[in-house]
Amino acid sequence: MNSSNDSLDSHVDRLSGKRRPVVRLVVAATTLGCLLLVAFATWFVWSSRHTQIRQTEVATSNVARMIGVQVETAMKATTMALANVVERVEHDGIGDEALARLQAHLVVLTKTTPELHGIFVYAADGRWLATSLSGTPQGNNSDRAYFQHHRTHAGREVYVGHPVRSRSTGVWVLPVSRRIDHPDGSFAGVVLVTLKVDFFERIYDEIDVGKTGTVLLALEDGTVVYRRPFDDKLIGTNLAEGAVFQAIRKQAAGSDFMVARVDNIERLYSYRRVDDFAFVIAVGQAKDELLGPWKRSSMLIGAAVLLIAAIFAAFARKLIRQFIIRDRLDQKLRAYSHHLRRDNFGLQELAHTDTLTRLANRRRFDEVLAHERARAVHGNTPLALIMLDVDYFKKFNDHYGHPAGDACLQAVGRILAAQVNRNRDLAARYGGEEFAVILPDTGLAGAMAVAERLRHEIQALGLPHQPSPFGVVTASLGVAALGPDYPPKGLPDAGEMVAQADRQLYHAKHAGRNRIEGAAAA
Ligand code: GH3
Ligand code: MG
Ligand code: MG
Repeated sequence: MNSSNDSLDSHVDRLSGKRRPVVRLVVAATTLGCLLLVAFATWFVWSSRHTQIRQTEVATSNVARMIGVQVETAMKATTMALANVVERVEHDGIGDEALARLQAHLVVLTKTTPELHGIFVYAADGRWLATSLSGTPQGNNSDRAYFQHHRTHAGREVYVGHPVRSRSTGVWVLPVSRRIDHPDGSFAGVVLVTLKVDFFERIYDEIDVGKTGTVLLALEDGTVVYRRPFDDKLIGTNLAEGAVFQAIRKQAAGSDFMVARVDNIERLYSYRRVDDFAFVIAVGQAKDELLGPWKRSSMLIGAAVLLIAAIFAAFARKLIRQFIIRDRLDQKLRAYSHHLRRDNFGLQELAHTDTLTRLANRRRFDEVLAHERARAVHGNTPLALIMLDVDYFKKFNDHYGHPAGDACLQAVGRILAAQVNRNRDLAARYGGEEFAVILPDTGLAGAMAVAERLRHEIQALGLPHQPSPFGVVTASLGVAALGPDYPPKGLPDAGEMVAQADRQLYHAKHAGRNRIEGAAAA
């Protein structure tokens, strides 16, 4: 009983031991799956941000380069116009006729170069000599910075001034000028070309850099020539301490995230210097704007990843629960079957046991005898059978009563159980006050010895039996023995063996009781 209990427990342990790694595997696989998913999503989100920034960098630096080319073209046209007019004044002088012709020439020149606002020629004292604008030249520009520069600097290089509002038209212009020399090299005046700031405005406003994007054209010293979005107050101010100018002092061209001083917006700027003419160009796209779509798609991806991970986890949970339920069911089933086997075993024992004496009953006796007979014949080994009958038992019952008779039978049963204890020996209650003993591997002599011992022990018990001539309970025994040399034919079967032992018992009774008789059966 106990051993079957142990084996059941170890079985359950073995099974649940197999399950636990499965649960661990499910947990590990789910965790790994979720981690991979998150890692992939993170990589994807990060690399798409990088791509977005890189693309914007390329776009803004292309725009900056394009503007640089345009500024260069305008400045070249301006330089050529300046050279042309200076050469004319120096060659033709400033006589009335020459000035009249110059005036007409300036008008034509301005009309053919759209970025030009006007051309002005000033004498050494600042008087207007000629202008491309309509009306007679009047006023004095000797107070302007460019005029003072040329008066004090001998040299024929082009001077780019700070943006100013035109005295003649009131619009923002960028003055670009050159000195006129007398043949002896002394100061003869200034030729001024003004570039329309709104010419840049028209071009820059068409560039798509988003709603909060910016395009900046400035002089190298930080002076703003034009900034998109257009702000009147910004033109002419100095941004030399701004982030773009700090960056451009380190390298001539590049891209980086910077915060604008003007509006405190962080942008991705592409900046470059137009070397020949000391201009600086910066094109910026707002970080929020350029990363807006990326942020939205990243949030969507994040939400999707969370959802998938949650579904994974839910499935894993369900799977593990199933395993646990199955485990529990398994254990319950095993416990039930264990109990069932135990009950079954109990029933079987019950079916094979005599209730009064606890010895094997008649049914068990029949089974074992048939089995042992076949085994003895097959193995050519001896087999003995003892039949035992209590003497004068009817009289015992009659004298002492039936319950005392039962107690007497129990006492006899105990003696059999105690004396018949070799491994395969079997003591059984055959019926009524008759008992039987099967002795495998035992010949007639051995069986006679056992029978005599039993007879002796019963008598020695000394159970009073008044009506018996012996005064105590006694028994008679008949022994039948088979083998070990079996005849090829006519071998007695189990029933015949019982009959033979019974015959010997009858002889014992006849011969006076409380004795044993035996014979070899075959
Ligand atoms: P003999 O010496 O010739 O064997 O005489 P006997 O009286 O023992 O034999 P008999 O067959 O005439 O009587 C057997 C008696 O055993 C009859 C029956 O009342 C009694 N008996 C049989 N089974 C039981 C039992 O389980 N309990 C009790 N108390 N008596 C039983
Ligand atoms: Mg009898
Ligand atoms: Mg009897």
